[in-house]
Amino acid sequence: MLLEVRDLHVEFHTREGVAKAVNGVNYSVAEGETLAVLGESGSGKSVTAQAVMGILDMPPGKISGGEILFKDRDLLKLKPEERRRVRGQEMAMIFQDALSSLNPVMTVGEQLGEMFTVHRGMSRKDARTRSVELMDRVRIPAAKERVGNYPHQFSGGMRQRIMIAMAMALEPSLIIADEPTTALDVTVQAQVMDLLAELQRELNMGLILITHDLGVVADVADKIAVMYAGRIVETSPVHDIYQAPAHPYTKGLLRSIPRLDRKGRELYAIRGLPPNLLHIPPGCAFHPRCPMAQDVCRTDVPPLYRVSDGRRSACHFWKETLDAR
Ligand code: SF4
Ligand code: MG
Repeated sequence: MLLEVRDLHVEFHTREGVAKAVNGVNYSVAEGETLAVLGESGSGKSVTAQAVMGILDMPPGKISGGEILFKDRDLLKLKPEERRRVRGQEMAMIFQDALSSLNPVMTVGEQLGEMFTVHRGMSRKDARTRSVELMDRVRIPAAKERVGNYPHQFSGGMRQRIMIAMAMALEPSLIIADEPTTALDVTVQAQVMDLLAELQRELNMGLILITHDLGVVADVADKIAVMYAGRIVETSPVHDIYQAPAHPYTKGLLRSIPRLDRKGRELYAIRGLPPNLLHIPPGCAFHPRCPMAQDVCRTDVPPLYRVSDGRRSACHFWKETLDAR
């Protein structure tokens, strides 16, 4: 397995108390596999990814338990310089906001080129050639002419392609993309997502796709992990989950995807708000918002029940949820 996150716990120590952002997450990604991690903001999906990348280590975020196995080594036990090398060369992250991730006063060619001069010891001339090739590869038109442009001279979609090029530059084995298309309009979203999926296949990388939108991952993900209040509440191969969610929260997320055949009808929204991580509700954390909640849900934390091969649901009533579709 390329990446295996085991029983990960992350806490934030704030003045008001300890916020439990990640509470025992397990997931894995194989080479060439795409895992979509889904959930509302505050579900712990980004924090888990930051822990994997090793960009959480500044206070007040703290990994309080678990293992992160990458190519069979626990990243949490590496020396800082080795950890930095893994982060710089073997994994890469793509963020939602390319404009704030790119350096505004360096040309795109300089930024891409740095990947090769710093990490591969290439000459500036060779690095420039590689940069143009990369820009071609992510289908930026007229790459040769545009390599000297600054980030603000590109459209949002083109900037996101540049971010993808930066992430791919050193051919890492794992890419984590955190809401990579959320800031883009719908048509551009699909193009960028397709490009990411295509490069991922070509390079046989593992990809973790973090999103709040089930609609954008249907065609590219192999499997899905749905997170709520720092826990995984459902995991499934991608197709099964669309056909029959086994958790009421997933069901709510599915119903809130805009669909052409429901045009004009009001969009469904899950009632209520995600919990405050300082005060996660007892029992099933979703119970205050769940239309199926019973007494047991208010007291007993549901384990991840086995639904079928590769499918798990943390709902006491997963069978009823499946049947009630
Ligand atoms: Fe709803 Fe209960 Fe299932 Fe939680 S365990 S999702 S509250 S039915
Ligand atoms: Mg986030």
